[in-house]
Amino acid sequence: MKQIFLTTAAFLFSILFASAQFKLPALPYAYGALEPYIDSTTMRIHHDVHHAAYVKNLNKALEKYSELYKKDLTELLGEQEDLPMEIQTAVRNNGGGVYNHNFFWKIMAPAGSTKISTKLEATLIGNFGGVEAFKEAFEKAALSRFGSGWVWLVASPSGKLQIISTPNQDNLYSPGSNPKLKAILCLDVWEHAYYIKYQAKRAAYAKAFWNVVNWAEVEKLLNEPYN
Ligand code: MN
Repeated sequence: MKQIFLTTAAFLFSILFASAQFKLPALPYAYGALEPYIDSTTMRIHHDVHHAAYVKNLNKALEKYSELYKKDLTELLGEQEDLPMEIQTAVRNNGGGVYNHNFFWKIMAPAGSTKISTKLEATLIGNFGGVEAFKEAFEKAALSRFGSGWVWLVASPSGKLQIISTPNQDNLYSPGSNPKLKAILCLDVWEHAYYIKYQAKRAAYAKAFWNVVNWAEVEKLLNEPYN
């Protein structure tokens, strides 16, 4: 009886403890939902292996500082320079990796399921001269990023949009970035995001990406209040 109690207690404790850690969110759609533009094999490996590893390694880095499991991810990333020195790099890389992939899955959707609203179109025209001009500038930034990283469409509180690029798993929460900006769209340009289908053709991947952008989500993010 005592043994059963102890086993049950250990099990419950493990659930409580595990629930406090950062989690791998499920994809908001099936692995094959973005076909043929992003293939299901890539999505499966990207989410189940790469994204999962960032979550696992973030949790591992925080093991000695388990009170940090209670924080929101953006809160943790926002104060990464105040964290104990020995976990700063791990939080920057793995916490950044978790945040960026959470964001990336959210701003994609099956091809044809959303489109640019008249209002968002006017915003893109106002900032870039046209939707096509915006896409070209974004694709250019994707190609210009040397090595691994991300391309972002960001908004300033005045409503001005700009395209920026970050190395590795950096984002707007990384040291040295402008805290006033808000991300509304991103593209993962790590080779793991496209190599199975596109091999070295990053440009083709960036062009195909437009078919699976969740424009409704982009507009929603644009309309959300600034932190
Ligand atoms: Mn990735």
